[in-house]
Amino acid sequence: ATIKKGTYWFPFTANRLVKANPEPRMIVSAKGAYYQTINGEALFDTLSGLWCTPLGHGHFKIAEALKKQAETLDYATTFQMINPETVRLSARIAQKAPDGLEHVFFTNSGSEAVDTALKLALGYHRLKGEGQRFRMIGRERGYHGVGFGGMSVGGIVPNRKMFASGMIPGVDHIQHTYNREKTAFTAGQPEWGIEQAQDLERLIGLHDASTIAAVIVEPVQGSTGVIVPPIGYLQKLREICTRHGILLIFDEVITGFGRLGENFAAQRFDVKPDMITFAKAITNGVIPMGGVLISDEIYNTFMSGPESAIEFAHGYTYSGHPMATAVAHVVLDIMEQENLVERVKALEPVLQEAVHDLRDLPGVLDIRNIGLSAAIDLLPVEGKPGAKGMAVFNEGLENGLLLRCVGDTIAFGPPFISTPAQIQEMMMKIRHILQKLG
Ligand code: PMP
Repeated sequence: ATIKKGTYWFPFTANRLVKANPEPRMIVSAKGAYYQTINGEALFDTLSGLWCTPLGHGHFKIAEALKKQAETLDYATTFQMINPETVRLSARIAQKAPDGLEHVFFTNSGSEAVDTALKLALGYHRLKGEGQRFRMIGRERGYHGVGFGGMSVGGIVPNRKMFASGMIPGVDHIQHTYNREKTAFTAGQPEWGIEQAQDLERLIGLHDASTIAAVIVEPVQGSTGVIVPPIGYLQKLREICTRHGILLIFDEVITGFGRLGENFAAQRFDVKPDMITFAKAITNGVIPMGGVLISDEIYNTFMSGPESAIEFAHGYTYSGHPMATAVAHVVLDIMEQENLVERVKALEPVLQEAVHDLRDLPGVLDIRNIGLSAAIDLLPVEGKPGAKGMAVFNEGLENGLLLRCVGDTIAFGPPFISTPAQIQEMMMKIRHILQKLG
């Protein structure tokens, strides 16, 4: 099966890696923590797909549940009817969330979850008679998906560039907290975190708090390289938002369902947002599903009058899809039966030790980790940003690792089912690659 260079294929993202490898690398199957390529190589799944396969691939219980569900109820409209299993799933998800976030709106992806949360924020303020609150605040280096809402609040400037004319109005970004001396949670300094969060006050001073609807942040920025918030930072954001009547949204599309050794980052950092977006891990990547966890206050506001239900014209054909619901139940069953969130907690020091053991290698600029996720920033090749990352990616393929290298940063988020030995082996291979590349 040879494919002529890009003839039929419009790459998922037209990125550098694709340009550098015009013959697409093909994955034909996957089992557990490994992919199998068309050439018969096994590749360790160092990022759990795109952070979405914590249980690994090819789980027989998921396959069984899919077959059974397809035969029982493959689809049901959620327009006027409801599937009891989806209601039960809402309850299970809410039980894992911080108290008071008791309601779930289902979507099919993280991007849709983010856009839904932003729309809920606007709707909420409007119903409260504060329709002048239209501004949204994101954070530099934040990633919130590819919808117009998520892209606008997203803080990765190159992602917005081509679509600048379509951004939603009234969006600002607070400063990121990427700082090689200070981001690592192990070395966090409370004063610095609080100082950073004060940047929100700067925007409030600029615009008047009564025009701001919501602040959205990833508690730990994932796509831009596992940027752990400094101590006190998220607490301070919460305090400022509460003081000014601004909603705080945590985008937990990556961190939700155990990645940080707690069900949600909100619990890891002990901060309660007004909404939490989730996706990815809830269905182990098998069938798309996302959603928004919503506070009682927001829910009750929407449900309190007939006008509100009519005005919030928002939903998806596949919201709460029975097939995705069936998978999600099995995923949560397995996570509970196998204590996988606890397992992440136990694996955190293993990953931490293994990754920080690389700190003295030539060309390593910074290493960050939290839960079962980590990142290494590499010194770029002079004048060629991203070239080192790409070289590492290619070497990874030669060494049985499917890596995520963006720019010159490698991100790791292995499946929760990984063994300590697999994590150590992954980092030994990275050591070998970095030594080889010099
Ligand atoms: N938010 C965050 C924090 C994400 O990491 C992602 C995806 N990486 C998204 C939103 C978008 O999710 P999706 O790709 O499912 O639309």
